[in-house]
Amino acid sequence: MVHPSKTVAVIGGGMVGACIARYLQRDGHNVIILDPNEPGDGASFGNAGCFNPSSLVPIAGPDTFKQVPGYLMDPLGPLSIRWSYLLQVTPWLVRYGLAGVPEKIKHQSLALKSILSRSLEALMPLVDDCGAHDLVRRDGILIVYRSGQSVASDSRGWNLRREHGIHWEELDRDAVRDFDPNLTRDIQFGKFVPGNGHTVNPGALVKEIVRHVVQSGGQYRKVRATDFLFNGDKLQAVLTDHGPVTVDMAVVAAGAHSKALARAAGNSVPLESERGYHVMIKTPEVRPRVPTTDSDHKFVVTPMQEGVRVAGTVELAGLDAKPNWKRAEILLNRIGGLYPALGKTYRPDDFTVWMGHRPSLPDSLPVMGRSKRSADVIYAFGHQHVGMTAAPYTGVIIAALAAGRPSPVDLTPFQPDRF
Ligand SMILES: Cc1cc2nc3c(=O)[nH]c(=O)nc-3n(C[C@H](O)[C@H](O)[C@H](O)COP(=O)(O)OP(=O)(O)OC[C@H]3O[C@@H](n4cnc5c(N)ncnc54)[C@H](O)[C@@H]3O)c2cc1C
Repeated sequence: MVHPSKTVAVIGGGMVGACIARYLQRDGHNVIILDPNEPGDGASFGNAGCFNPSSLVPIAGPDTFKQVPGYLMDPLGPLSIRWSYLLQVTPWLVRYGLAGVPEKIKHQSLALKSILSRSLEALMPLVDDCGAHDLVRRDGILIVYRSGQSVASDSRGWNLRREHGIHWEELDRDAVRDFDPNLTRDIQFGKFVPGNGHTVNPGALVKEIVRHVVQSGGQYRKVRATDFLFNGDKLQAVLTDHGPVTVDMAVVAAGAHSKALARAAGNSVPLESERGYHVMIKTPEVRPRVPTTDSDHKFVVTPMQEGVRVAGTVELAGLDAKPNWKRAEILLNRIGGLYPALGKTYRPDDFTVWMGHRPSLPDSLPVMGRSKRSADVIYAFGHQHVGMTAAPYTGVIIAALAAGRPSPVDLTPFQPDRF
């Protein structure tokens, strides 16, 4: 318990905001979650659900500039850019490419490791608190390859994981078949990472954590934060579309929508949306044994409560453009190449589609730290492809900052003014 406890607004009720809110509350603070949408309905709703401490490989790498044109030429490829958005996203893309040099990657992966490695350790107390054990599995993930060449093209990432002590098991063709007999016979190699976990319903997990926060005396207000009111360098209130909310402190955890709020608190951050899609097959013929990544086509197939979810692809088109459901169709068309029993013609009733915004900075690291304008505004956004995994420990870190304790990890790589 911290004395005196503070009233803290958590702006954004996604996985990141929910974990922060609960860790703040565990410290004795009075927490108010602000979100114009239902908690857990943003990016945290539609992701692949994996808790992957092994995902410490930054997204941009030395091959980025070489690979991107090929991806863009392939209409079924894992990356697309809306041409009308190209000019706007170019500065971000240049930064992204420049972030992928070996020396920077070394530092980025160390920073990612510092927030990912304790993911499940930090998640489980929250799951215990809200009793959502049925939503969490700790039975590993599988990554599969069709050729030695495709394994080789991924070797940089696996070498980095080895350097950082990630443990995995190599599976040959027969071992892959024994592990999951429903996979296509084309799979030649697999890597099983036993230390990872997943949730069978990411949106429900967020809602359970928020429900528990509210049940324990916190609040959720269905409002949009628009600005801050300061007196000198002291925060007075968060301004919302339904009036001011008086607080001692605020945490900006609005995912891909955090840029304008950061600007209002004095920081200019190159936050971009990497839009992703999923298809949920409602009554699948077969289910993967664990979340399984098709490394050749860059999508993940996750066994979930409501069916089998096929998630992936990156589309750069900004926050406002309408979804291009062809990107989801690509996933549906690809699934039979991995699980032949799922490769049939589906009727519209057999599946649902979704699009959401990964909040991404060009160096693959989130922003965590205090705002330029006031120490009372703390940032926690930009968790890109690993926000489900990084959220629980982000909660631990932000609670430490709010209480004036030293951060349990070095926050230098995450500073808001690093760009
Ligand atoms: C296809 C796909 C697959 C993925 N798979 C994985 C995976 O397997 N594992 C993993 O770790 N990560 C994965 N991710 C990434 C992960 O989903 C995100 O990093 C994570 O959900 C981000 O959480 P968040 O709380 O920051 O954002 P969100 O979940 O988007 O929450 C932000 C919230 O802020 C609210 N908000 C916005 N503006 C305001 C405002 N002005 N005032 C108040 N509230 C506001 C929104 O309504 C929303 O509820 C995936 C992402 C995608 C798209």
